[in-house]
Amino acid sequence: ASGNSLLRDPRYNKGLAFTEAERDAHYLRGLLPPVIMPQELQEKRLMHNLRNYKVPLQRYMAMMDLQERNERLFYKLLIDNVEELLPVVYTPTVGEACQKYGSIFRRPQGLYISLKEKGKILEVLKNWPERSIQVIVVTDGERILGLGDLGTQGMGIPVGKLSLYTALGGVRPSVCLPITLDVGTNNQQLLDDEFYIGLRQRRATGQEYDEFLDEFMAAVKQNYGEKVLVQFEDFANHNAFKLLTKYGTTHLVFNDDIQGTASVVLAGLVAALRLVGGNLADHTFLFLGAGEAGTGIAELIALEISKKTEVPLEEVRKKIWLVDSKGLIVSSRKESLQHFKKPWAHDHEPIKDLVDAVKAIKPTVLIGTSGVGKTFTKDVVEAMASLNEKPLILALSNPTSQSECTAEEAYTWTEGRAIFASGSPFDPVEYNGKVYVPGQANNAYIFPGFGLGIIMSGTIRVHDDLLLAASEALAAQVTEENYAKGLIYPPFSDIRKISANIAAKVAAKAYDLGLATRLPRPKDLVKYAESCMYTPVYRNYR
Ligand code: NAP
Ligand code: MN
Repeated sequence: ASGNSLLRDPRYNKGLAFTEAERDAHYLRGLLPPVIMPQELQEKRLMHNLRNYKVPLQRYMAMMDLQERNERLFYKLLIDNVEELLPVVYTPTVGEACQKYGSIFRRPQGLYISLKEKGKILEVLKNWPERSIQVIVVTDGERILGLGDLGTQGMGIPVGKLSLYTALGGVRPSVCLPITLDVGTNNQQLLDDEFYIGLRQRRATGQEYDEFLDEFMAAVKQNYGEKVLVQFEDFANHNAFKLLTKYGTTHLVFNDDIQGTASVVLAGLVAALRLVGGNLADHTFLFLGAGEAGTGIAELIALEISKKTEVPLEEVRKKIWLVDSKGLIVSSRKESLQHFKKPWAHDHEPIKDLVDAVKAIKPTVLIGTSGVGKTFTKDVVEAMASLNEKPLILALSNPTSQSECTAEEAYTWTEGRAIFASGSPFDPVEYNGKVYVPGQANNAYIFPGFGLGIIMSGTIRVHDDLLLAASEALAAQVTEENYAKGLIYPPFSDIRKISANIAAKVAAKAYDLGLATRLPRPKDLVKYAESCMYTPVYRNYR
């Protein structure tokens, strides 16, 4: 290849790291200044530059530029500085990037499939330069993080999630495909914005939407085969549950908002048992919020308890209660409930307020998944503290402004007795001379390793038992040292090792269930997972 094309291709470009021999062999002489800079020094220089940007969005854009310029260096930065850079390439900064996508947009990333392409989606897939794809993350942009309908600007989400698949789960970048389906937007501000990059029409619904998704799912299978993992991301809940059920039996599909969240939260709860004692079955759960996250978590908890105790699901569900925007979900409301709430409509008199629900239900675990901030008020948290020696409180709503309560509030209102984790990160809290470290129930703990496990074993369907296996694997990574600090999740700095362990457990379960097609089954699945993982170290071009 000519020197210039090596420099312009992010897959191959090494910038100043090209060696003397490579410069001679590939016509690079003169195209670079004389210095040879090793990757470590390039990394140091870039981290220094990044830290000089005060505005998070500038850091995001610098990272995106790097990804387009030098892919391996991008992933080296992300892997080596994961705790610092995760919030830059993913939430919260990616949210702001999506909101401003129209004006910061430079070069397209990912594949855009709009209603204009209806009838020719297969041809559009064939325009993507890579033939062999193993993971697709797809959104229709209707519920981007907690920010609502961002239409085609939601592309930042599949792009960001897939960069985590590579950095945290070691899935090669060339087999990852981010896709945004543009079926319109109901966001009037975007429709009125002259720089908006999407279709200027209101969202297609009903049959038109269903046909478009059908064509997309069929084209994906036709073009990439049976074993491509399709992750649905940030669809509104009225479509999310439907799509998962509809394609769950014909395609390899996974919804991170429902299933990934459930797996990560269950892991935290299982780990927390080490601090509070007892079994999951001894606990009573109360959720604020009964959407994708809330009902997804509730269902997986029930499944885990039912499997462990051999008590039927319907019976187990009775110890799990949910509150939605209308109050406690009870059987007298059953007729008017969305189908995903129906299993949780137990016999009880209606209750409007959360604090009254806490007093009536007497939960040992309180989980916030409503997207509404400051809802775990002092009254609510104090009620939990008066009912429990060690109340388990998870404030999962994102971003930080929407958190049900802060870490500091959880610890002070319970006199330091709460076991607390949140969706958005909080700094450690000092209370009465003791330091409490809140955990973060970040989905990025699970989906990269989960996906790796599926891919490396050639698994053809996602099964709930695989989600349980991932939870168990994550919980097993919490060390005594972590527990001593009150943590129910391991530190993120170990994420590659954690992902390899999750991948191994998921693959093992898939083999046991007969869902894995890669034969023979590797003897040591952890070693095998590690050997499959992409590393961003430069290669030699001789
Ligand atoms: P969703 O499907 O839209 O569900 C939201 C639920 O909250 C609905 O049941 C809604 O009630 C209920 N709700 C809204 N306002 C309420 C209020 N004032 N009082 C009580 N309930 C209320 O959303 P989702 O996908 O589940 O996400 C919810 C939140 O969880 C988001 O903030 C998201 O960022 C967070 N989340 C966190 C993690 C994590 O920490 N790893 C993972 C996923 C999601 P109705 O049904 O009556 O409308
Ligand atoms: Mn999501």
